[in-house]
Amino acid sequence: MPGAIFWFRKGLRLHDNKALIAAVESRGKKVYPVYVLDPKFVNPKQMGLNRLRFLLECLLDLDYSLRTKHNSRLIVLRGDPTVVIPEQIEAWDVDRLVYEDEPEPHNVERDEAIKAVLKESNSACLVYCTPGHTIWDPKYLLKINNGKPPLTMQSFTTLAEKKADPPARPINAPTAEAMQLMLPRDVPETDKAEGDMYSVPVVENVKDFVALYSSLGVNGDQCTIDEADEKENNAGTPIVKGGETEALKRLSIKVNNRHTWVATFAKPDTAPTAFDPPSTTILSPYLANGSISPRLFYYAILDCYEKNRKENGHAHTKSPTSLMAQLYWREFFTLCGRELPHFGAMVGNSICKQIPWSRDMALLRAWEKSHTGFPWIDSVMTQLRTTGWIHHLARHSVACFLTRGDLWVHWEMGRDAFERHLLDADWSLNNANWMWLSASGFFHQFYRVYSPIAWPKKTDPNGDHVRHFVPVLKDMPKKYIYEPWLAPLTVQKKANCIIGKDYPYPVVDHNTVKNANLTKMKDAYGRHSDGKINWEEDVAQNVSNADKVIQTTGIGEYEYVSKDTHNSGKRKAVAAPSEVDSDENTVKVEGQSSAPKKDKAKDINSKPTRGNRSKILRQTTLEF
Ligand SMILES: Cc1cc2nc3c(=O)[nH]c(=O)nc-3n(C[C@H](O)[C@H](O)[C@H](O)COP(=O)(O)OP(=O)(O)OC[C@H]3O[C@@H](n4cnc5c(N)ncnc54)[C@H](O)[C@@H]3O)c2cc1C
Repeated sequence: MPGAIFWFRKGLRLHDNKALIAAVESRGKKVYPVYVLDPKFVNPKQMGLNRLRFLLECLLDLDYSLRTKHNSRLIVLRGDPTVVIPEQIEAWDVDRLVYEDEPEPHNVERDEAIKAVLKESNSACLVYCTPGHTIWDPKYLLKINNGKPPLTMQSFTTLAEKKADPPARPINAPTAEAMQLMLPRDVPETDKAEGDMYSVPVVENVKDFVALYSSLGVNGDQCTIDEADEKENNAGTPIVKGGETEALKRLSIKVNNRHTWVATFAKPDTAPTAFDPPSTTILSPYLANGSISPRLFYYAILDCYEKNRKENGHAHTKSPTSLMAQLYWREFFTLCGRELPHFGAMVGNSICKQIPWSRDMALLRAWEKSHTGFPWIDSVMTQLRTTGWIHHLARHSVACFLTRGDLWVHWEMGRDAFERHLLDADWSLNNANWMWLSASGFFHQFYRVYSPIAWPKKTDPNGDHVRHFVPVLKDMPKKYIYEPWLAPLTVQKKANCIIGKDYPYPVVDHNTVKNANLTKMKDAYGRHSDGKINWEEDVAQNVSNADKVIQTTGIGEYEYVSKDTHNSGKRKAVAAPSEVDSDENTVKVEGQSSAPKKDKAKDINSKPTRGNRSKILRQTTLEF
C-alpha cells in the first residue's frame, strides 16, 4: 500500500499536532516523518550558529522521541523542498503529503510550488494541511472579521475576546499504537556504505557548521565565519536548549506552577536588564518553531487565571500588557504578516511609512558587532549574539537606536540581523516589531525615543548588564558606566579601559543625531500627508558602500573600509542637522512606561489631516 509523508516544518512536536494525527490515522499507511534542511533558510546569512544549533537540538529531540517511544525515526532531507519532497514522493511510493500550515507568504508560495510540481507530473499524491502554528486558525479569524485583518491591538483583542469562539483544547500526542504505523527505523534508502544519510547532523564546532552549510550547497563566501564569531559562539551559551522535551518542562516551570505571577504579569514592569534569570518566560524560541503548542500555552494561562481567582480572589492583568496579551500580539502580527502584501519590506507595503533610511553597512556592523561605543547598546547586542535572546524592551532600545533614534539605518537591515541571531526569529513578528520600533507601521509616536544612556540608567543604575556582557568595562565606576568617554583619563586608567583604545568612542553624538533624525521623521511623515513620496531617490542618496568600521576616531566619527574599493576613509556619522528643535523643548519623561499607554493609531492607513500634520511638525522628542 502506498505510504504517506509527514513533513515537519514548524510544529516540531508530537503533542497537539493535528496534522500528525491526521497522517498516522490515514488508513493504516506507513508514514515517513520528514524534515527538510532548506538552504534558502539554513545559511549563515539568515541563520547564525546559535539558531542553527537550536534547530538541530529540536530535531534531535524529535528523532529521540520517535525512536524511543514509537520505534520510528526522523528522516532529514537536504535541499530545496520543491525538489526533494516530490523526489521522495516518487521514490517512496507515497500518495499522501501531510503538514501543518505555515502562515508566511513565502512558505505558502513554496507549498503552492510543490503542489504545482505534483500536478505537472500527474502524481497521485494528495496534499493535506491543518492549522497549528497559532491559537486560532488565521482563516477563521479573517472570516469573522469581514475578511480583513484587524490593524490595531485593541481591535485584535476585541476579536479574540468578544467575537472568536474559544480555541479548541490541545490534543495529546498520537498513541504508541497509532504510531506503530510509522516507518520502522531502517529507512530502505539508507546508504549503509555512506552512513546514515538521513540522520540529524551532529555539529560540535564551527567546522562542523561550515561543513553542514557546504553540504547544503551554500556558497563558499557565505560560509566564511570570522574568527570573532567563532570565539564568540564557542564562548556563548544559548539561553535555552532546543526541543519539545525542554519546551514542555519550561512551560511547566515558568507558567503552570506560577499562577500568581502569571495573573499579575505586566510586560512593561518586567526587567529588561535581568538575565540570570530573565524576567519573562523565554518560551518564544519554542513557539517560533512549534516545539510548544500555542494552544497549550493559552490554556495554561487560563488555568492560572482560574487558580488565581480562586486562591487570591483578585482579577488578572489585561490586554495589552498581560501574559495572555503577549500571545495575542503573536496572533495579531502573524495574521497581519499573512494578509498584508509585502509585509517584509518597506516598499509596496501599504501599512509602512516610506522613510529615506540609509543602508550604511559600517554603522550596521558597528551596531551588530557591539562597536557603537554606547555600552548599553553594545551589551544588549553581545547578549543577542552570544545567547540568542534579549528582553522585549532591550529589543525596543537597540531597534530604536539603529533606526530613528540614532543611526538612521533601514529597519529591514536590523530585522535581518535579528533573524540571524534570535533563537525565536519569526518572520511575521520580527517584521511587525521592526516596523513598530522604527515608527514605520503600527506605532507612530516617532518623537518618543529611547536614550541609550538615560534609559538603562533608570533600569540598571549599577550597570550590571554591561559589566557582564562587556567585561572591558567591568571596573568602570557607576557614574560613567553608560558614558565612559566622559570619564577623566585617570579614571579610565584605573578602570583599565582607555576610550579609543580598549573601548570605542561613541559612533554618533546621541543628542545631535536624535534631533536630526526627528527632523527627518517629521519630513517623511509630512510628505506622506502631502503625497510627495520619492523614496527611491532618497534611499539612493543614502546608500553607502562602507563595509567595515575600523575604529571610531572621535565622537560621531569613524574610519571605514569600502566594500567595493577596499580603500579606507573617514566619515562623520551624521551631518549637522539643518533644522532642529532646541534642547529646551526636549522633554525627558521620568518613570515613563516604555509601552505606549494607549494604542492611539486607530487606523494606520489613514493619512494625517491638516491639523494633524501641523501637530506632527511641532512635536519634539520625548526621551525615555
Ligand atoms: C524589534 C523587535 C523584534 C522582535 N522579533 C521577534 C521575533 O523574531 N520573534 C519573536 O518571537 N518575538 C519577537 N519580538 C517580540 C518579543 O520581544 C519576544 O517575543 C519576547 O521578548 C520573547 O520573550 P518571552 O518568550 O520571554 O516573552 P513573554 O513575555 O514571556 O511572552 C510570551 C510569548 O508571547 C509572544 N510575544 C511577546 N511579545 C510579543 C510581541 N511584541 N510581538 C509578538 N509576539 C510577542 C512570544 O511568542 C512570547 O514567547 C520582537 C520584538 C522587537 C521589539
